[in-house]
Amino acid sequence: GTSVITIADHVRAHAAATPDAVALIFEGRETSYAALDRQASRVANALIAAGHAPGDRVAYLGKNRDDYFGFWLGAAKAGLVTVPVNWRLALPEVAYIVADARPCLILVEPEFLDRVAGQGATILLTDPCGDHPLFADWRDAQSDADPRRDGGYDDAVLMLYTSGTTGNPKGAMLSNRSLLGLRASEPDLPDWYRWTAADVSLIAMPIFHISGSGWGLWTLQHGAKGVVVREFDPARVLDLLVTFRISKIMLVPTALRILCDHPAAAATDFSFLRTICYGGSAIPLDLLRQAIAVIGCGFAQMYGMTETAGTIIGLPPQDHDPAGSERMRGIGLPLPGVKVRIADEGGDTLPPGAIGEIVVASQANMIGYFDRPDATAEAIDADGWLRTGDAGWMDADGYLYLADRIKDMIITGGENVYPAEVENALYSHPAVADVAVIGVPDAKWGEAVKAIVVPVAGETPDPATLIAWARERVAAYKAPKTVEFRTDLPRNPSGKILRRLLRDEYR
Ligand code: ATP
Ligand code: MG
Repeated sequence: GTSVITIADHVRAHAAATPDAVALIFEGRETSYAALDRQASRVANALIAAGHAPGDRVAYLGKNRDDYFGFWLGAAKAGLVTVPVNWRLALPEVAYIVADARPCLILVEPEFLDRVAGQGATILLTDPCGDHPLFADWRDAQSDADPRRDGGYDDAVLMLYTSGTTGNPKGAMLSNRSLLGLRASEPDLPDWYRWTAADVSLIAMPIFHISGSGWGLWTLQHGAKGVVVREFDPARVLDLLVTFRISKIMLVPTALRILCDHPAAAATDFSFLRTICYGGSAIPLDLLRQAIAVIGCGFAQMYGMTETAGTIIGLPPQDHDPAGSERMRGIGLPLPGVKVRIADEGGDTLPPGAIGEIVVASQANMIGYFDRPDATAEAIDADGWLRTGDAGWMDADGYLYLADRIKDMIITGGENVYPAEVENALYSHPAVADVAVIGVPDAKWGEAVKAIVVPVAGETPDPATLIAWARERVAAYKAPKTVEFRTDLPRNPSGKILRRLLRDEYR
């Protein structure tokens, strides 16, 4: 048969082998593999007819919907790169990304039209509004003959912007290899990471993150069925889980918390679920224990980043013993095909137990940041090792543990302090609802540890009590010197605390 190389090839192959199998379900609408493949061909023909060249970008600004996948696969069939843009961003933030990516065409949902008007790109709408052309009309005016103008294995097919936790978002260019390469070693993959055509997955995370687009692609790569959730809502997700007997779902910790806390969760029989994959940010141990108690299926932690097209390290279900395996505090083992080392500032490899930067090499690494050769050279060295920007260590068995982001590390009196450790200590105090720890300039210490605490409603803890609480749990130099109270903390749309904004207030 023909070789399967690109993301579109996988859908072509399933369309040929199992044309009527359901690829996507969205709000009552089913799309078969054959229909998805035809939609993609029409999109590709429309892009080619409009004169768009291989490597050009097309953007999507909207919530999750089934059309997105046909759009993405269609762009790939024409050799173009799809850029899904975070709809939660404010107008200037969207403008920054659009100016950076320079898409030739933007597919947009009407409610976000104001954010892309006047950018110079062709605008297509998902639903009628004013006199902009409709996506479905534009697509369906074309032939469904497959143009087969896919790029090569190492050409970009997806450009995702990083979450902007540590600075401005950067466009990570992902190739067919980045998205598919790790799964080429299929027989070696751990059971929890493997998919079959019988899997039914819930695509519940936003498609502008790898946890949405990547998850959706893996569903389609394996000929499985994907149920697309427009926007995370716990009641809706519980309902879809049961209705479609979902076998696999990916959730960020915040979403998992909301799901477990929903009153209907305790009464739901989750026996159809094989695996809940969680990751994207640190999970509190109490939440993980609660989720295991309430849902009781297999749990797998996923660690990865936009730049690695998602998961590269994972904690398997068998290491989720709620009785308290130390491994539950970590992020687990590298996936087959992923090389991980812990490096010091000079790039030399550190021994087990020592904290340094997590550095990774695998086929999943991005090509680079779009139009940012300097940032790319800083991130990826000549041998293909990618600096994650995360500090961590490896134990003697090869299990990995995260300390924190290197950019958030505090140096106080010459000692390194990772804020996450101090935050966890404070978070365990019953009067603390939320907390961020940062370093503030200090004449004596260089930087002094400061905690910014959101108290539990109705509680008024005093700073001295919280400082004493921290000193009982972490070394004295790590405990905050000062505590400040607030009603909320700045977060990005994925729920990550923006410590850099807090730091800026004191510089
Ligand atoms: P930016 O790069 O723009 O500052 P970001 O790093 O938050 O933003 P993402 O690529 O969405 O953007 O997130 C990747 C980061 O998320 C990782 O570098 C790591 O710090 C964190 N992360 C991912 N998975 C996990 C996990 N399982 N546990 C803890 N943290 C995680
Ligand atoms: Mg990052």
